[in-house]
Amino acid sequence: MTKTIISTDKLHKMSPVFGQASFNQHEEIVFFNDEDSGLKAIVGIHNSVLGPALGGVRMWNYATEWDALNDVLRLSRGMTYKAAVSGLNQGGGKAVIIGDSKTQKTDALMRKFGEFIHSLGGKYLTAEDMGMDTHDMDIIREVTPYVTGVSEEKGGSGNPSPFTALGVYMGMKGAAKYQFGSENLTGKKVLVQGIGHVGEILVKYLTEEGAIVTINDINEQALELVSKKYNTNIHRGMDIYDLDVDIYAPCAMGATLNDTSISQLKAKVIAGAANNQLADEIKHGKLLQKKGIAYAPDFLVNAGGIINIYREVANISKEEAVQRTENIFNTTQEILHLAQEKNLSSHQAAFNLAQKRIDDRKAEF
Ligand code: NAD
Repeated sequence: MTKTIISTDKLHKMSPVFGQASFNQHEEIVFFNDEDSGLKAIVGIHNSVLGPALGGVRMWNYATEWDALNDVLRLSRGMTYKAAVSGLNQGGGKAVIIGDSKTQKTDALMRKFGEFIHSLGGKYLTAEDMGMDTHDMDIIREVTPYVTGVSEEKGGSGNPSPFTALGVYMGMKGAAKYQFGSENLTGKKVLVQGIGHVGEILVKYLTEEGAIVTINDINEQALELVSKKYNTNIHRGMDIYDLDVDIYAPCAMGATLNDTSISQLKAKVIAGAANNQLADEIKHGKLLQKKGIAYAPDFLVNAGGIINIYREVANISKEEAVQRTENIFNTTQEILHLAQEKNLSSHQAAFNLAQKRIDDRKAEF
C-alpha cells in the first residue's frame, strides 16, 4: 500500500484558514471594514476559558494583509498565556488596524473601531498597543465600554507602559538572582534594544540602580535624548548580539532570538518587553537552555501592563496591581528553577503552568 504524503504547502492550500500554523486553535477571528473611515481591522480571540479576551490593538503599516493576520493571531495567542500565567481571569485576544498610526489615525477611525468592538458584545476588550495611546482609548470609550487603558482623568488605569517596564525590571532582577546569585544590578552591563514607551522607563530603573546601560534604537533623536537624560552608552546599528554585556533586554520588536542572534549572544540573562521574542518557541527556547542563558519568558515579564489594565475589569486597587507586578520577581525565579528541575526550556515551563490553569478551569465546567 502506498502512503500519500501531503506537503505543508498543499495542506495550507487545502485548509487556508484553520490549517494555518498561526491559527492555533483560535476561537474566533473577525474582520472589520469601513469604507468611509478607511478602517481595516482584524480581531483575534484565541481563548476565552478564563474570561473575556483582553488585549491591545496595534496600528501598523503592514506590508501585506497576511502579515497583519499573522501578527494578530500570534499576539492574541500570546495574550492567552500572558493572562493565564499572571493569574488573571481573562482570555487572550488582540486586534490590529492596518495603516500608519502617524498619518492615518483619526478620531473618526477610532470611533468606528470602537463601534466594531462594541458589536462583539464584550467578548473582546481592547486596550493600547503599538501605535496607540490613552487618548485613542478615551475616544473608543465614547462609543463602547469594552475598552481598557482609558486615561485616569476619565476613570481608567492610564498608560500601561510604566507597569510593563516595572514588570520587566522585576523579571530581570529575578533572572539575575537565579543566574548570578544576586538580584543586584549595580555594575551589570545591560543592553536595552528599543527605548520607546517601555524601554526608556526600564533604562531609568537600571541607571538609578547603577547598571551600566547601552541603548540601541533606530530612532536617532530618541537615542540622543535618552542617553543624555540617563547617561548611557549608545550602540548604533543592528550588530548588537555579540556585544560584551551581562543582560540583553529586547524592548523593540519580536523574533530577535533566532539561530543567528543566539549563536552570537554573550549575555547570560535575557529579559525584555517585546512580545514573541523567540522566533521559534520550541527550538530557540531549547537553544537558550543549552547555552545556559537564563531567559525570562516574555509573556511572563511583560505582563505588568495587562495587570494594570485588569484594574478596569476586576475589582483590584492600584496598589494591588503594583504588588502583582512586583511579584514577577518571584515568579521568574520559580519558573527558572522549575525549568532546571524538569529539564525544560524556561519558555516551556511557563507555558505549561499557564496551560494547566486553563485546563483546570475547563475541567470545572
Ligand atoms: P514603542 O513603539 O514605544 O517603542 C519601540 C521602540 O523600538 C521605538 O523607539 C522604536 O524606534 C524602536 N525600534 C523599532 N525597531 C527597532 C529595531 N529594529 N532596532 C532597534 N530599535 C527599534 O513600543 P513600547 O510600547 O515601548 O513596546 C515595546 C515592545 O514591548 C513592543 O514589542 C510591544 O509589543 C511590547 N509590549 C509593550 C507593552 C506596553 O505596555 N507598552 C506591553 C507588553 C508588551
